[in-house]
Amino acid sequence: MISTEGKIVIKPSVFGKGLFASEFVPENTIVCKVTGTYLTFAETILLGEKESYCLQIGTDKYIYCSEPFLYSNHSCNPNCAINSDLDFYTLKNIEKGEELLWDYSTSMLERHWTMKCSCGSKNCRRIITDFDLLPQAIQQSYLQMNIVLPFIVQNYEQKFAISA
Ligand SMILES: [Zn+2]
Repeated sequence: MISTEGKIVIKPSVFGKGLFASEFVPENTIVCKVTGTYLTFAETILLGEKESYCLQIGTDKYIYCSEPFLYSNHSCNPNCAINSDLDFYTLKNIEKGEELLWDYSTSMLERHWTMKCSCGSKNCRRIITDFDLLPQAIQQSYLQMNIVLPFIVQNYEQKFAISA
């Protein structure tokens, strides 16, 4: 078991491996940084199955994620998020033993990768897909919460600028 900053551990999850709180973690706490090797879209394709280890951070910019963030799983009802500095942080108070989950769609705008979702949330969308394909109410709420990666937000600002 790997412990990071004393607050999270990597353990088996219903999703494979996952990140769990090893002690109570208050809302708005950075649990780890998203770090790793930078790749282009074409380079992520060459990874085959390991393509899903990559986080999109720009139109053609990806990070091949390092541990512990690599093991973070998706939920349609997330208790964590990534901010514009690529800090992985808590949106809620997290109890000891709870899994840390974020919404993958907040970093996706590529028309390439999708995944079936069985996160078990009441509001589960059944499929994980690009941010702009989410129901509009969810897009708005995530934009307001400031948990959408900047390259996607910029894309939205451009859209609004054109339609205004
Ligand atoms: Zn779901």
